[in-house]
Amino acid sequence: MTNYLSDINSLHSQLNLLGSIEVGITVLDRNFHVLAWNQFMENNSGILPSAIEGKSIFSFFPEIDKDWFTIKTEPVFNLKSPAFIIWEQRPYLFKFDTSRPITSASDFMYQNVTLFPLKSAAGEVEQICLVVYDVTDEALNKKGIQALNEQLEQISRIDGLTGVYNRRYWEETFAQEQKRILRSGSNGSVIILDIDHFKKVNDNHGHPAGDYIIKTLANVIKQTVRETDICGRYGGEEFVVLLPDTDSDSAQFVAERIRAGCEDLLPNYEGSEIPFTVSLGLADFSKQYPDHMAWLEKADQALYIAKNNGRNQLRVYQKPPTNES
Ligand code: GH3
Ligand code: MG
Ligand code: MG
Repeated sequence: MTNYLSDINSLHSQLNLLGSIEVGITVLDRNFHVLAWNQFMENNSGILPSAIEGKSIFSFFPEIDKDWFTIKTEPVFNLKSPAFIIWEQRPYLFKFDTSRPITSASDFMYQNVTLFPLKSAAGEVEQICLVVYDVTDEALNKKGIQALNEQLEQISRIDGLTGVYNRRYWEETFAQEQKRILRSGSNGSVIILDIDHFKKVNDNHGHPAGDYIIKTLANVIKQTVRETDICGRYGGEEFVVLLPDTDSDSAQFVAERIRAGCEDLLPNYEGSEIPFTVSLGLADFSKQYPDHMAWLEKADQALYIAKNNGRNQLRVYQKPPTNES
């Protein structure tokens, strides 16, 4: 069928030959009555040609929406041009079971359908031919790849070493939360923390031991915060926690528990005890901050003071007094 405007007579004579091929073929007239029904259609529907020929396709396949199908076939009849129904838009036209129900991950057959105009001797299109392709394997492969991509996207939000959000995703979330807090008039706090003298851990015990301490810190943080708090690894041994709807006093309590939790632990890596401490900076939300990064900057200033004042401590950013009450 190189020329889609096939002659009806030649098509009808070919239908016998097409009977056994691996595509579905059916011919419909303008009233959507079935004129031809090949072996593939019979096998997959369980409907004999003698049962369906001369009858409306809609009475056998209620899943085909009549209004939609009429619109879809209009250019085929009137403009004499072919039309296509692809599985991405509509998984199937005819609801057939999949040909391999045991092994297939789908319980129906995905289909691509081409609708060809059939020209009569007078050059009019009074009939159309539907060619139904089973594309279940192709569709399932593509859907599998999509699911994999979604998993990858999920993985790319997560820091591989620690399982908390990576910097990029944490910042995105932080930006959204900052806007939400601003709109809703609620509060929130952000903590930034960094392991003290971490270079010494790497130098004295090796890089894998350093990684182990980073993981240990991440676990302390995860065990201390609430489920609604948003944790991220901001740099090598630097972490951030956003505590939505949490005022400074409550956040200080959480931060202090993280600090003490690290101090009290005595992690053991391959026989070596590696004590460690962290310094923390905290800033609560203010609508004075032009954006989320300005807010984080205040917490970072507090961290800087904690480091300079001897480490292993929490510092809270002190807002300058404002005229607002
Ligand atoms: P300070 O108390 O001032 O924070 O001192 P510090 O030694 O911790 O200084 P700094 O924060 O600048 O050092 C961070 C070190 O962390 C430098 C880098 O080699 C190391 N580092 C960064 N990422 C990783 C990582 O993924 N694994 C390990 N093992 N080390 C890392
Ligand atoms: Mg450090
Ligand atoms: Mg650091």
